[in-house]
Amino acid sequence: MQRLQGIAVSPGVAIGEAVIFGNEGFRISRRFLSRNAVNDEIRRLDEAIAAAAKEIDVNRQRVAEQLGDEYAAIFSAHLQMLQDPKLRDELDQMIRDRHYSPEYSVSRALRRYAKVFLSLEGDTMAERANDVFDIEKRLLRHLLGQRREGLGELTSEVLILAHNLTPSETANLNPEFVKGFVTEIGGPGSHTAIVAEALDIPAVVGTGPFLTEVSGGETVIIDGDHGLVILQPDEETVARYRHEVAEQRDLAAKLETLRDLPAVTLDGEHVTMLGNIEFPGEVKHCRERGADGIGLYRTEFLFLTHEVQPSEEEHLAAYREVIEAVDGQPVVMRTLDLGADKIPNFPMPDDERNPFLGLRSIRLALKHVDMFRIQLRAMLRAGLGGNMKIMFPLITNLIELRRAKMVLSDAMEDLEEDGFEFNRDIEVGMMVEVPSAVLMMDHFVEEVDFFSIGTNDLIQYTLAVDRSNKDVASLYTGSDPAILRLIQMAIDTAGQHNKPISMCGQMCGNPIYTMVLLGLGLRTFSAVPAAIPEIKRVCRSVSISQCQELAARILSLESARDVRTALREELIKVLPDQPV
Ligand code: PEP
Ligand code: MG
Repeated sequence: MQRLQGIAVSPGVAIGEAVIFGNEGFRISRRFLSRNAVNDEIRRLDEAIAAAAKEIDVNRQRVAEQLGDEYAAIFSAHLQMLQDPKLRDELDQMIRDRHYSPEYSVSRALRRYAKVFLSLEGDTMAERANDVFDIEKRLLRHLLGQRREGLGELTSEVLILAHNLTPSETANLNPEFVKGFVTEIGGPGSHTAIVAEALDIPAVVGTGPFLTEVSGGETVIIDGDHGLVILQPDEETVARYRHEVAEQRDLAAKLETLRDLPAVTLDGEHVTMLGNIEFPGEVKHCRERGADGIGLYRTEFLFLTHEVQPSEEEHLAAYREVIEAVDGQPVVMRTLDLGADKIPNFPMPDDERNPFLGLRSIRLALKHVDMFRIQLRAMLRAGLGGNMKIMFPLITNLIELRRAKMVLSDAMEDLEEDGFEFNRDIEVGMMVEVPSAVLMMDHFVEEVDFFSIGTNDLIQYTLAVDRSNKDVASLYTGSDPAILRLIQMAIDTAGQHNKPISMCGQMCGNPIYTMVLLGLGLRTFSAVPAAIPEIKRVCRSVSISQCQELAARILSLESARDVRTALREELIKVLPDQPV
């Protein structure tokens, strides 16, 4: 049994069979063969070994010609290893006697060899292990080239263990079969983490390297509540976690009963509970959890799942689907927020040293006005039939906001000229997710209809901590007093000017913050659908005066640790069975 500590990004526990999705995207599961497939599979292995050997030989000759024989020796060693009769016997035996697939056999046998090298001291031994991995990858590429199994084509329940998953890969996971995932890299605020929460599957990121320690098909436990991953768990651990899964089901059933009850505090204050979505299909999850509407539709996910830029009609179809599904409830559609960790399939600058500080979000939209205008036209057209608002992301200064509004006016003029019907009076708002936007809010209030606080980026830009970097993950926290002060400033300024303000960052889907946010004056929450019942339960269990007292106390604290401790203590007092 081996335990790995990572970063908890999506709660819950999953126990199941692992599939590995390594650096190059291979999926290796312990697929068993039927008896009469064995000869064909051995032939497939023969072909893969022959193709890999040919490739290595070509490389060897090329390097020998260009650099000399001593540099080509490495390839001779690879060839020798690949064609080692002992390895071949072992692989044949696994396929013939145990009916393992060639992919699984190759992976299992070579990883065992690599482990032996890794357990020996010295750089040369580490290099030998790397050589073995290199051969494994090469062989798998040939095997899987013949039978490529994508993540989207799973047919049984699995847990994905990956070096990395991009937000679009994560968005394409099918939660019917993918019951959880772990990635070696990634941080707490990454969009991969956000999508995991939206899919409502346990996920842990940033464990550091471990894929060489595990083979596809082995049992793994993902503890998304504590950021733990357990490889080769013993029976007692599996039993303990199964018990936990059953308890979580009980809590979920309890929360289910809140669905149709309003989010009203003990002293009668009504709280609006909205949901965050990435795809139209998620509206259903929001409604099932009793949401009052959609507070953030991350429309950029349409770009992430398309090979080319979506057309106006494709945008429109998605937006209309959302509007139809919400059935009259309000929807805030955010304009494209691409760049940084959300990379679409069309050309983007690839030499950015600091992509989170670079051409991302509204900056990218304003640089590619044609693309932006297409999206805005679709939003304006969709807005005709529903209770819909438009929101611009990552606004850092007034000029940027005015430019975005100008493109919106242009889109209106174009639509008029083209004879389309659209919503002329659509409300326009902005995200407050950069400290400069908070500091300048007394100016912004004059130019927008509403605000939404994006804590995911606000934390990143205020504390200068990359939201997707595991090495600084401990600094990435909404408990930092600086963040709470900025939230207070934003809510107060909006309140003084009677401008509606909500929050759609992950912080407001975390029950530990519900009381302090209520105390700071927040009355509209927009959270991942799975979190809505828990947040509602906290709202229904507290009074505003109690929350205001807590907020005043918290704001005088000096460190994130003190804030977290105080918030945890207070929540446990109110809801002793709430996991925190
Ligand atoms: C945020 O930054 O808090 C936010 C909601 O936007 P995103 O997570 O999509 O960057
Ligand atoms: Mg953001």
